[in-house]
Amino acid sequence: MSMQLLSDLRASINETEDAVLQKARKALSLSKDTACFVYRRSLDTRKDKFSFVYTVAIETDLQNSRLRPFPTYELPTPTGRSKTVPIIGFGPAGMFCAWILARCGYKPIVIERGRPIKQRVNDVNTFWSGGELNPESNVQFGEGGAGTFSDGKLTTRINDPRCRKVLELFVHFGAPKEILTLAKPHIGTDMLRSVVTNLREDVIRMGGEVRFETKLTDLTIQNGSLRQIILNGEPMDTDLAVLAIGNGAVDTYRMLLEQPIVMEPKPFSIGFRTEHSQDALNRRTYGSFYGNPNLGAADYLFSNVTDKRTGEAVYSFCMCPGGQVVNASSLPNRLTTNGMSQYARNGENANAAILASVHPSSIEEGLELQSTVERNAWNAARGLGPASTGYAFLRKEAPDLATCPIRATFGPGIAPTEIGALFPDSVANRLRDGYALFQKRILGDEPSLLTAPETRTSAPLRILRDPETLQSISVRGLYPCGEGAGYAGGIMSSAVDGIRIAEQIIRNES
Ligand SMILES: Cc1cc2nc3c(=O)[nH]c(=O)nc-3n(C[C@H](O)[C@H](O)[C@H](O)COP(=O)(O)OP(=O)(O)OC[C@H]3O[C@@H](n4cnc5c(N)ncnc54)[C@H](O)[C@@H]3O)c2cc1C
Repeated sequence: MSMQLLSDLRASINETEDAVLQKARKALSLSKDTACFVYRRSLDTRKDKFSFVYTVAIETDLQNSRLRPFPTYELPTPTGRSKTVPIIGFGPAGMFCAWILARCGYKPIVIERGRPIKQRVNDVNTFWSGGELNPESNVQFGEGGAGTFSDGKLTTRINDPRCRKVLELFVHFGAPKEILTLAKPHIGTDMLRSVVTNLREDVIRMGGEVRFETKLTDLTIQNGSLRQIILNGEPMDTDLAVLAIGNGAVDTYRMLLEQPIVMEPKPFSIGFRTEHSQDALNRRTYGSFYGNPNLGAADYLFSNVTDKRTGEAVYSFCMCPGGQVVNASSLPNRLTTNGMSQYARNGENANAAILASVHPSSIEEGLELQSTVERNAWNAARGLGPASTGYAFLRKEAPDLATCPIRATFGPGIAPTEIGALFPDSVANRLRDGYALFQKRILGDEPSLLTAPETRTSAPLRILRDPETLQSISVRGLYPCGEGAGYAGGIMSSAVDGIRIAEQIIRNES
């Protein structure tokens, strides 16, 4: 008997899972003992349709147009080979690549410039309380990568059977089981930290190695093949390395640009974080269902085409219900923001990035744009978060933060700033047009507090790789991987790309 999926089963907010499973069996005229379980649950908040929508996995060989096959994915089988594979970066891409390789008998050596979670958390808290930035241990760099201080959203737009395996591994390493079924799984920064540590310990238990405070500083490439990686200035001979450096390592990007590695510019987005009342959002989203314990903190997705000529959109990104806005800088005298939350998502503010896409004509132009906006922000507020009220931003007025009812969550504090001036005029104008509509559609009359800028949304470049071998098209043995190489956007897709690269290394090496 095979497992199949039955989608689009609607149930009221208060209906039990058992009742839903019974409904699924009945819909297919199967006996009440047929094995089944909830595969996915999402919430439809449209007024006339307010309900949970379920997909149920059910054991049956029935041929029925409402059924589709259960997606399966088998981990690669151990090969018995013990080859050493250096992996640069211990974010989601590097973590999952290392775990698969270790499980298959390889010896991954993870090279991570930042520090382990415990020390990293101290470094970040010091910085957020007004202390010095540690340029090697911060929100971008260190164990777990950029996502460690995050909302821990595990949603993705990619449709890949490896996604479920990533969720299962998250659960295996300590995440709550519910992430297997929720359409918008999230675990918060608190749970993510222990998952990351447990995964690292398993990699080491299986024979891998993780070297913190070790930075890839250069590469030796001869005749189109990788020969050495240079770590903290010391050469290590290798004909193989996975480059999973994330999108925050500007110095590493600049080092790669000096090498014969073929890359192309990639569009990315810049903007700011908006914060507003979570309670007001819950009321507006849930209407008469407000306060129902089966509903968590409400979220939203906003998108609006502001430039009819190019079709460019202003959109919300990485919405963090009940979260906080964080200082995500990794360079001295530069400032960039992001958002994170705890598993409970019980903070008083909701926040989200509001972004406009940009299309630099070269990689240099993209890096320079990010750097200029981050420098403008630092200079405008001297290390505090440049902030405005939503209304002042729309009217191009000097903001009066003292009268803003939204309490800032950004550490070490905010400073009133005309945030539009941080961006090129064309970007500021698009952000204003978009935010006017966001205010109307999402916030209504609710006040908001804006902290700028958000610049590290995705990589400004792509390192081209061969579609068959997944190696760099110009350097044999070099495997660009994850978000920093331009092949993922977010925790889940980066983890999936890490798995894909590990599978390919196993294939190429056998
Ligand atoms: C505050 C914040 C919140 C976020 N929230 C979410 C969210 O809720 N959901 C989501 O899907 N995504 C979120 N993201 C994005 C997500 O974190 C990234 O998409 C994801 O981490 C990318 O994974 P990666 O492994 O490709 O790179 P990264 O996670 O960036 O990891 C790269 C690692 O490489 C290391 N490194 C870089 N250069 C070198 C070098 N030269 N030598 C050695 N090591 C190096 C870095 O220190 C880093 O640890 C968030 C990001 C931030 C900053």
